[in-house]
Amino acid sequence: MLLRLRKNLGPSELESVLAVARDLDLATRFLDANRTILELVGPADPRARSRFEDLAAVAGVLDSADQPELVDRTRDRADTVVRIKGAIFGGGYASLIAGPCAVENEARLFEIAAAVRAAGATLLRGGAYKPRTSPHSFQGLGARGLALLAQARERTGLGIVTEVLDPRDVEAVGRVADAFQIGSRSMANAALLVEVGRAGKPVVLKRGLAATEREFRLAAEYILSAGNPNVVLCERGVRGFDRFTRNILDLGVVAHLKLATHLPVIVDPSHAAGRADLVRPLARAGIAVGADGLMVETHPAPHEVHSDGAQAVDLATLADIARDAEALLGLDGRRFAALDHPAATAR
Ligand code: PEP
Ligand code: MN
Repeated sequence: MLLRLRKNLGPSELESVLAVARDLDLATRFLDANRTILELVGPADPRARSRFEDLAAVAGVLDSADQPELVDRTRDRADTVVRIKGAIFGGGYASLIAGPCAVENEARLFEIAAAVRAAGATLLRGGAYKPRTSPHSFQGLGARGLALLAQARERTGLGIVTEVLDPRDVEAVGRVADAFQIGSRSMANAALLVEVGRAGKPVVLKRGLAATEREFRLAAEYILSAGNPNVVLCERGVRGFDRFTRNILDLGVVAHLKLATHLPVIVDPSHAAGRADLVRPLARAGIAVGADGLMVETHPAPHEVHSDGAQAVDLATLADIARDAEALLGLDGRRFAALDHPAATAR
């Protein structure tokens, strides 16, 4: 590990760095006459980078490749393959998560669930607790929404991905969800990340509205550090300066995270676009750049949607998106995990 220290440090400032090095069992050696480049050698410890970054005496961490954090790809760590009921993310498989933005009512949810399954999705999404920008907007059906999701699973065999907003709800949501969704607005809620980490179920972690890739990785690091390795990273667009889309879909970060981490990465083209007409092309781009799956909002009557109506694709378009993805996956020797596929149930 290499640190760049601030110039002209006093003895106590320097000691603050050396004390952390001792604590982590790292040997230290200055590489320059000015004593600003410090090399540290010793056992790998995921705490090392953040511990040094926090110190006022450290101007920057120049290289921490020998001190990987838990999310980092290392030579001896195989890709994490996350299985959620019939879905497989990673290891040559991609999966489709689809459904409404929010659970709205029984009839609508069951109609969508059946169509989502027919299109080739393995997981049904739908918020029972909705993190709305305005407190006056529809906030979701809460516990009743969870009960409807459980019934939809019974009827279709689809696994359920649903958002948890509050650490106090993790237990109740976990009784129904096959995977927790951590939404964009909650990505930096450390207490919630620790709680879903402890709960042991897989987590679909969405990137914060304006989170850097490092902040995104560190949010996953919280879940992994709490003992839960089953994290799927979800790029859903970051806030930009232009308003023709809701967000800017960061395809670069998808390709980057596939290289920099061992976790599966999926793309949510719906919240990125904010417009139904761009969802299909962005979904194609996501798979082409290496995503291990898609999360898509769909609705049979977009003009009746309670939340995020403008970005909901109709059910025919969802089926097109699934077909596109299957074809694109085939180009690089990957495949869609389907509910009836034997690999999907071989756990
Ligand atoms: C959602 O998935 O409906 C949602 C609220 O997404 P995000 O957290 O990405 O805004
Ligand atoms: Mn939504």
